[in-house]
Formats: sequence, C-alpha cells, structure tokens
Amino acid sequence: MLGKMDEFLNKLDLTIRFMKNTDKKFISTYIKSQFKALENIYNGSPYILSTYYFPSELACIYDVEVIYIERLVGLAVGMNMLDKDTTTPLHHGICSYQKAFLKLIEQKIIPKPQMIIAVRYPCKDAVKLCDYLHNTYKIPIFYLSLRQLRKDLEDVHDYLSSQYQVIEDIKDVVRRSNAAHDLKKTIDHYRMQYPGIIRSDDCLKIFPIENDFGKDSATYVLKGLLSCIEKNISTYQKDNKPTICWMGLIPLSDNNMLTKIEKYTHCKFVYEEMWMFGDYKLYQDNFFDALTEKIKQSLFYNTHRRIHKIHDMMRQTHTEIVINLSHHNCSFLPQTIHQFKAYFEQKGITFYNISCDVVYEKFDSHSIMNSINKHVPYIGGENKDACLHLK
Ligand code: SF4
Repeated sequence: MLGKMDEFLNKLDLTIRFMKNTDKKFISTYIKSQFKALENIYNGSPYILSTYYFPSELACIYDVEVIYIERLVGLAVGMNMLDKDTTTPLHHGICSYQKAFLKLIEQKIIPKPQMIIAVRYPCKDAVKLCDYLHNTYKIPIFYLSLRQLRKDLEDVHDYLSSQYQVIEDIKDVVRRSNAAHDLKKTIDHYRMQYPGIIRSDDCLKIFPIENDFGKDSATYVLKGLLSCIEKNISTYQKDNKPTICWMGLIPLSDNNMLTKIEKYTHCKFVYEEMWMFGDYKLYQDNFFDALTEKIKQSLFYNTHRRIHKIHDMMRQTHTEIVINLSHHNCSFLPQTIHQFKAYFEQKGITFYNISCDVVYEKFDSHSIMNSINKHVPYIGGENKDACLHLK
C-alpha cells in the first residue's frame, strides 16, 4: 500500500479512534466496516463497484467486496481526500458524485473494480459513470433494469455465484436484514415519540447503513444508535422550538452543519428524508420477490408516495418547516421539487429550497440561519401559514 491509499486509511483510522472515545461509538462502528473493506481491497482483494440500489442482501452473499459509489465518495470527501480539480472526461453536467469517484480511480485512491453492477434506478448519472468505466477500462458490467427487475436480480445472482465463492446462506442474510429492519423501526418509533432525541447530523452521517443490511455491521451500528437514544430518553425535554425536516443531502465537507444551525437559531431538526429507508421485510422462500419489492418500495420510486410519506412523518413529529437542499447537477431529485413546493404550499407548510454542490462546495449556512431567524417569530404564531422564500 502506498501514498494516497495509506493516507486514506490513516485518516479513517484516526476518525474511528476518535469517535470510539465519544458517546457516538456507532459512528465509529459504521466507518470501521468501510475501513475493513478498503483495507482488503488495498491488500489486493477484488471488488465490485455498484450503484446505490443493488440490494446489499445480495451483495454480501459472495466472497467479494462491494463498493457503493456515493458512499465511498462521501467517505473520501469527509476525509478530505479529493482535490479541488473537477475536470474529468465525463460530461461537464454530470453529477459530481460520479466525477469524484472517477477522480478517486484516476488518482489511485481506489483501484479499478473487477466488475460493475449498474441498477438503472433512480438516477442516470451513476449508470453513465459505470458505462464510462466499462468502455474505457473494459471492465465487465451487469445492468439491472426496473422493467424486469426480478429476472435481472436472479440473473446477476447466477452470474456472481459462478464468479465468486458463495460464503453466506440466504437464510442468515434474511435473518440479519430483518433484525436491522426491526432495530430501525424501534429507532424510528422513538424518533417519532421524542422528536429531536438524536441529532439529525448523526443520522445523515450514517444513512448509507442501508447498504449494509444483511451484514452484522448494520445491526451493530443500529444497536449502538438505539442505545444512545435510550440513554437520552430519561433526560429528554420537549422544547418549543420550531421543528424542521431536512430533505436531500448535506454538504459532505460540513457534516455538522445542522447542529451549528441549531446552535445559532431557534429551531430543531427532527428528521431527514434520507433516513426514510428500510420499510420492508425479506423472506427466504421468495427471496428475489422480496428484493424486488425492497427496491420498488424505496422512497424515490414514486414521487407522489414520497411526498405523502414525508408529510406523514411531519405530522407524527409535529414538524413545521421543510428545508430541501438540491444538489447541483443531480439528474433526478431537483425535477421533483415543484411538486413538493405545490403540495406544501397548498397545505400551508413552510418549504424552503436551497442548492449547492454537496461534493465540491461548502454551503454558506448563514443564509439559512438568517432566514430561520428572520421568520421564526412567525412560525407557530399568527402567521404560521406564511411561506418562506422559495427559490
Ligand atoms: S445526487 Fe442525484 S445524480 Fe447524483 S448520485 Fe444522487 S441521485 Fe444520482
């Protein structure tokens, strides 16, 4: 292992050790599973590169590491491994998560994958990166499409079984995935009952834990989070601060931004759209049907359902404001904003849309703080139905 790879592992190791000595050991556990995968890869193990919605329960069956594009980019930016140069051979308008992953390969921060799995859902840009890597480096690729999802899942399973040793029994994977699902459900029950019991920033740091469901690491992380929440219950006090739901991503280089905003404004972030995952159960007998259903019930599959799920969560947590961060050049999420805007306006809910490039830019959080400070006296008061700035 040389240079940049060493640097990446060292930085991760330092963060793991630091977090271990805080009351947020679950974040340390979360990073540790990524650290181990990278260490294996740097020591010569092959890996499969995958887009976000390839089911982790399938990925963990074989004796091969699976790296999810956006998750690795999040980790690399958090560890300050990316330089500022954004030029790549990819189309200039492509999502910066994909540009950043290509940079990681070009700068040898991660070796090239042995194989690629590209799910044609929900975004096109991740598939474009996969196409580019496939064409440029002649890396074998397997596509999964929504049209014949179940068949594609079975086919990819057959293919992977022929290429890699099967090391996990489906029944064990199903048991662990369902255990993670149950833990997440309990966590959400408490988050509804005690809004703000856990920091939104912390949930946003670990939401890609969804890509570990089926592994022990997912249950360890969620158990750690649950135990933090349970410790906080005895001292929980409901305050009268206006509550906010955070939609979209968060700038990767400032993953404590919401905590800072809370410190300087009279508000509390209580739930995050990206944390709305895991609402499914798996069954051993019809594993592939259940995996198909897992993808089809995911939040971004249907915008109408997504709006109603978010509103439902807001009702349960008595949330008054929604702030949405649109990632520049995202080929998918910003197109849905007008539907949210129209829906929330009609319901008299404050909806505030902001934008930045979460991978390469720092967001000036003062603009949100100013808006919240300026309007908070009205929220919950006579002008409760007033709508904040909509960009
Ligand atoms: S931010 Fe948008 S374009 Fe980028 S990976 Fe996510 S869904 Fe795809």
